[in-house]
Amino acid sequence: MTPPAVTRDRLRVAIQKSGRLSQPARDLLAAIGLTWRESRDKLFCYGESLPVDLLLVRDDDIPGLIADGVCDLGIVGRNVLVEHGLEREAAGASSDLREFRELGWGACRLDIAISEDQEWSGPEDLEGLRIATSYPQILGKWLKDQQVKADVVTLAGSVEIAPRLGQAEAICDLVQSGGTLVANQLKPVQTLLHSEAVLAGSGTPPEGARGELVELLLRRLDGAMRLKETRLLMLRSAREQMSEVLTKLPDGHEPTIMGIEGSDEVSVQMLCHAAVPWQQLEELKRAGARQIMVLPVEGMLA
Ligand code: ATP
Ligand code: ZN
Repeated sequence: MTPPAVTRDRLRVAIQKSGRLSQPARDLLAAIGLTWRESRDKLFCYGESLPVDLLLVRDDDIPGLIADGVCDLGIVGRNVLVEHGLEREAAGASSDLREFRELGWGACRLDIAISEDQEWSGPEDLEGLRIATSYPQILGKWLKDQQVKADVVTLAGSVEIAPRLGQAEAICDLVQSGGTLVANQLKPVQTLLHSEAVLAGSGTPPEGARGELVELLLRRLDGAMRLKETRLLMLRSAREQMSEVLTKLPDGHEPTIMGIEGSDEVSVQMLCHAAVPWQQLEELKRAGARQIMVLPVEGMLA
């Protein structure tokens, strides 16, 4: 059945209602200039600064909402996006979901873990075992690629306790620090996917006003991501030490050097591509710089 033609002119962005991705997603959208009013049921946020509304949902629903055209963009873990894509493929449905941008947070791995005291020499050790997971598609595909036959036990949650409950001999689950595995006497032995939060959307983006809004948000997002790393470095140096100081400057844009009236000092300003480590500041000081300051950059229009 073809979905009804969408005549919306406001853009919709789906984000996780509550969970690991919800606050960083809101912070990111606020950082690119979106403001919104939350509905009483806290499922919908009406965009005030731009015609961009937010839908607050379970992360698992985000890929489907985009695929069905209910939302234009979504912020979701790559793990969820990939699992959904494979699920659609397996069902014979086409999937045109794209990862537009990596967001640099929400990092985790989808790992296979086995009991701490079990030996591991490679994927073939999984032959004939039961593996508990919430990612049956990703795991199933990987097992197939490895030509390993194992039973995939699909669980909605609490995968890490499955071995203790006798439901499985191994698990395939998201791991961040590995603390949960250790607490359950498990050890990671194989990584299937490196994940992080991504901005996802349809491979055929909307046309007209909504398409322009997508472009605008992507441009602002790129600017915000660049700015996040950017620092303004300011310092002073005696004129005769300036050339030595300049050799110690970090990576960045061409510095601006200004004379200070009535002084034999100059003031140097530069935009750096990343945070400036303490060691580099100390080197600048040794070279003769003083009043060294490193400032975050709030906004920039080049
Ligand atoms: P929902 O109620 O929305 O379905 P959830 O329990 O599936 O929530 P969270 O636990 O909030 O989701 O995780 C959301 C995403 O955070 C994961 O899909 C993953 O991309 C990322 N993530 C980062 N680190 C971890 C981790 N250690 N464990 C689980 N997810 C992690
Ligand atoms: Zn979920």
